[in-house]
Amino acid sequence: MIPISLPMLFIIYIYCWFIVLIILWLREQLRTYISDWKRNRNNHFQCDNCHYTFIEKYSTICRCPRCNEISIARQEKQF
Ligand SMILES: [Zn+2]
Repeated sequence: MIPISLPMLFIIYIYCWFIVLIILWLREQLRTYISDWKRNRNNHFQCDNCHYTFIEKYSTICRCPRCNEISIARQEKQF
């Protein structure tokens, strides 16, 4: 058996928690990178029927989550 002193055991305990925190932080960074819900002009929709504003990530045509009306993303004119 390997003799471990109490301060060494405490240091190992702290290192284990530090590693767990790094793993959780990396997981959160990965989830943020995958979801990538950033607002821009291309994924910002406003329903013509109920004027509900929502974000759609993957397409330019989608259904309104409130009234199920088809919404189309319009390109805003750049001045
Ligand atoms: Zn709607």
